[in-house]
Amino acid sequence: MSLHHGKQSTVDFAARVRGNQRKLRDGLTSQYDFIVCGSGSSGSVVARRLAENPNVSVLLLEAGGSDEAPIVTEAARWVENLGSERDWKFVGQPNSHLKGRSMPSRRTRMRRNPNRSYVRVPNPAH
Ligand SMILES: Cc1cc2nc3c(=O)[nH]c(=O)nc-3n(C[C@H](O)[C@H](O)[C@H](O)COP(=O)(O)OP(=O)(O)OC[C@H]3O[C@@H](n4cnc5c(N)ncnc54)[C@H](O)[C@@H]3O)c2cc1C
Repeated sequence: MSLHHGKQSTVDFAARVRGNQRKLRDGLTSQYDFIVCGSGSSGSVVARRLAENPNVSVLLLEAGGSDEAPIVTEAARWVENLGSERDWKFVGQPNSHLKGRSMPSRRTRMRRNPNRSYVRVPNPAH
């Protein structure tokens, strides 16, 4: 299989996901059997497992917006998420071992996975 084929599959999958999400959004109701708050690592898994039962309705809520943005999908641009609208902008307590400085504690808000917007880099605070 060519690289092109792999890229095409990704595009097809993304289009199917988008279509499915549009369908689900259009069918929102005022009552659900389960409402899961936060589509982070655990919320996504819990909602997925609950949704395996076709007899129950599940709503997964996420505070952030869409993750369909180049700064999310293009890994090399991860740094642009820091301090962006997708960043909760949490800050740690002042730390005497850091000469009283407060370190930013990065957490993003977006559908699917808050970890998608970061890569691991050495942290001078550690
Ligand atoms: C920079 C960074 C790198 C990390 N790297 C790794 C790693 O390499 N390996 C690893 O195992 N772990 C890693 N972790 C830890 C891992 O991300 C967390 O342990 C994990 O995400 C916690 O899962 P969670 O479901 O509890 O919370 P989260 O994944 O943080 O999910 C919480 C979700 O709830 C949403 N939310 C919050 N409030 C509301 C509200 N009021 N309404 C609706 N939605 C809301 C948030 O936007 C978020 O999407 C990393 C964490 C960070 C910050």
